Amino acid sequence: MDAAQDAVVKTTVTALPGDGIGPEVMKATMEILAAAGAPIEWEMAEAGAEVFKKGLMTGVTREAMDSIAKNGLALKSPLETPVGFGGKSANVTLRKHFELYANIRPVRELPGVTTPFTGRGIDMVIVRENVEDVYAGIEHMQTTSVAQCLKLMTAPGCERIIRAAFAVAKAEERKKVTCATKANIMKLTEGMMKRVFEKVGPEFPEFAQDHIIIDNCAHQLVIAPEQFDVIVTSNMNGDIISDEAAGLVGGLGIAPSANLGDHVAMFEAVHGSAPQIAGKGLANPTALLSAAIMMLRHISAFEVAEKIEQALFITLAEGKNLTGDLSPRGHGVGTAAFTEQLISNLGRASNLPSRNYQKIELTAWPELTAHIEPGTRELVGIDVFLETDMAAKPLGEALEAIAEDTPFRLSGVSNRGVQVYPPTGGQTFLVDHFDCRFLLKHPIKLDGTSANGQPEISYLVQRIGAKFAWMHIEKLQRFDGKDAFERPQGEG
Ligand code: NAP
Repeated sequence: MDAAQDAVVKTTVTALPGDGIGPEVMKATMEILAAAGAPIEWEMAEAGAEVFKKGLMTGVTREAMDSIAKNGLALKSPLETPVGFGGKSANVTLRKHFELYANIRPVRELPGVTTPFTGRGIDMVIVRENVEDVYAGIEHMQTTSVAQCLKLMTAPGCERIIRAAFAVAKAEERKKVTCATKANIMKLTEGMMKRVFEKVGPEFPEFAQDHIIIDNCAHQLVIAPEQFDVIVTSNMNGDIISDEAAGLVGGLGIAPSANLGDHVAMFEAVHGSAPQIAGKGLANPTALLSAAIMMLRHISAFEVAEKIEQALFITLAEGKNLTGDLSPRGHGVGTAAFTEQLISNLGRASNLPSRNYQKIELTAWPELTAHIEPGTRELVGIDVFLETDMAAKPLGEALEAIAEDTPFRLSGVSNRGVQVYPPTGGQTFLVDHFDCRFLLKHPIKLDGTSANGQPEISYLVQRIGAKFAWMHIEKLQRFDGKDAFERPQGEG
């Protein structure tokens, strides 16, 4: 090594070779980065199936966690979530442990990768919230036949992903940010993302902005995908449409992603460990390599990132020595030959220019428990969820009798979100899980000067509990004079 090379400051990155084809695509990626002169020092760490087998429920070793925390950067191959043993997904462990809230998925037509959409000019980024929503994994069986999953969305969670989307738009010199939600149905959760988008958006007048309902977004993605530039969306929506969008340009096998947080950035291929081809030297390293290119841009190594990207584009465009997944049957080569071909193309420019990238600058968030105190707060009632096999009418009448000499009145009973008492004439199929809404005859101001409605609630719940099995209670509050709850379908 000469003195000039010696002087290059290298960035240390934790490498997780993972499972299945993971070590093969990691080796290829490292070889290409080394050949291109990427200023990276690797620190190898272990996560995935082998770690689960050792009895570690997280699937990630302590050493790997410490290495990622120290370096703040990781390149990760696919990790298997073993079925039948082990705990939760190691991928989810990593995302949650390091609060990697922004999942960035570029979707761009690649030269030589022919799809029914080739030539449409697809070039977008999907920015998916990565830690909230139903993925918080808070699930409870309410009765033996009714399961519940809490969909938690927060104002700071929405704000930081929306700001991240604008940061991506700025870093990639894009023109439009589209917020995709299901706000028409889930007015409080998905609606929050839309409202925050409308509040934060005006700070970024340089970008066109619009909102689209997520199902129409899925539809538009296949009707006119070229209309999208940056799409920001919640976790579950993003999970689905980012896979859909990847399908437009050649599938998950070639799609990269970045998981960004305030302190750690983790880059990975979108595909899994492909156990069917593992160990055979057949895997295509394009997705992990593209993730590594994103990582190089994250550390502002723009020149070498472009050098590798251009070599990848030209290799794919010329179609020589491609892996089996990108070749006509029987014409594919192995990972090593593809890697060699790509390395031989380093320094050449393709017909598809790289975008003009800058570093994505995320907003730094204070390390405080996020809290917004409303001006006024009132308790207006409670929802009591109970289990019974009674019909709606006798149940409603029994609950009205129970509420009679309490500070509450029964407002209604609903079943899976549809009012069934007082009857509406609807034809609701009933399950043994009823939401019984009791409203206070006189709402109570929650200002810390009274018992905050505690005695009133306890009295009612005690009376209900004497006759029925209840599972949980929700307080019905009003913040700043506005109801902080939704009404069931059919309620007048
Ligand atoms: P998969 O591993 O993505 O594989 C599906 C198929 O896609 C493979 O059988 C292979 O098709 C093709 N493929 C995927 N990547 C390829 C590559 N780089 N080169 C060539 N072909 C590729 O999906 P899966 O079978 O559903 O999942 C397997 C395991 O991976 C599971 O344990 C799952 O939990 C895990 N997983 C991990 C992640 C992650 O770590 N982020 C993501 C998804 C899944 P052919 O068989 O036709 O060759």
